[in-house]
Amino acid sequence: MAIWNPWHGCRKISPGCANCYVYRRDGSVGKDASVVAKTGDYDLPLRRDRRGEYKLTAGQGAVFTCMTSDFFLEEADGWRPGCWDMIRTRRDLRFYIITKRIERFAQCVPPDWGDGWEHVTVCSTCEDQERTDRRLPVLLELPIRHRQVVSEPMLGAIDMEKYLATGLIEHVTCGGESGPGARPCDFRWIREVRRECIRRGVPFTFKQTGAVFVKDGRTYRIDRKDQMSQARKSGMSYVPGTGSADAIAYRLPERADLFARLRRSEFRSRFHLSAKDRAYVSEKGIAAIRGQAAEIVEKRLGAENPENDGKQTPMRGHPVFVAQHATACCCRACLEKWHHIPAGKALTAAERDYVADVLTDWIERETAGKA
Ligand code: SF4
Ligand SMILES: [Zn+2]
Repeated sequence: MAIWNPWHGCRKISPGCANCYVYRRDGSVGKDASVVAKTGDYDLPLRRDRRGEYKLTAGQGAVFTCMTSDFFLEEADGWRPGCWDMIRTRRDLRFYIITKRIERFAQCVPPDWGDGWEHVTVCSTCEDQERTDRRLPVLLELPIRHRQVVSEPMLGAIDMEKYLATGLIEHVTCGGESGPGARPCDFRWIREVRRECIRRGVPFTFKQTGAVFVKDGRTYRIDRKDQMSQARKSGMSYVPGTGSADAIAYRLPERADLFARLRRSEFRSRFHLSAKDRAYVSEKGIAAIRGQAAEIVEKRLGAENPENDGKQTPMRGHPVFVAQHATACCCRACLEKWHHIPAGKALTAAERDYVADVLTDWIERETAGKA
């Protein structure tokens, strides 16, 4: 990746700006980050080396634009047209623009922008639900060829599924906040957005834990040097069609412990086989039921991204369906929550066997009156 900072300095406008790293870095050398000034790198995309070749080449990867300011800042209105000219000239590069000012986009594009330029990706940040609901509708309405979303620092739970459902968002990145005074980031928020991305087939990256990371109700202080590697190790990043979630290390619950937890759940313990279900089980025999369970698991849960996930299991009509609700094997989110099998990957043969065994076990216990 290459970085092009045509100007430097910015104005805080959003809760995500509170601990802005530009302010922090400038402050540490006695510089005022609120002063916006053109940099010596303003014309970087057109600059050439001694042999007359462009200094920025496509081989360097995407050009991250305006990383120490905001491309749509009012103070830069006079300099931006020159940037668009350079971007227009360098169609061989990919420009990547991250902004907290997406609402200024329409008044800031050049006259020949049309329905967007193929080599420009525009990325709106949204750190909380309010910013998400304000900015993503704007991002979706604008003529942009490539749209992405960044929730970093993520400051609260965010539901963005209805925006992902449009199919217009190409990537979502989440992460916590780093530096002194960092606000906490809860792993549950990350997982929820990830699940939404999986359901909608949108690539997802968990970029960094941040300095204050909350997992299962416990707060961890994470060293700067470990924040990115810890996020990577969690295996949460998701690329559709690659089995990327296979990277998540997990352990299946012990059967006795699982059944004990299920008994304590008011919702799960409500499910029981009907007289008709019991008659069906005794007529077919448990081996045949195990075979049907395996088929149902493969068909309704086995895919990386099962159709209608979350709603694919009827409440009744087959003893296996009832067993699925009773044992939290009804959808991939429940499989992840109760059985730790990550969503966003096809089930392996061993995982399918495990699920079919849990279902058969429950049905046997139920018919023997001890589920
Ligand atoms: S918009 Fe970005 S660069 Fe500007 S103050 Fe906020 S966080 Fe910092
Ligand atoms: Zn479920």
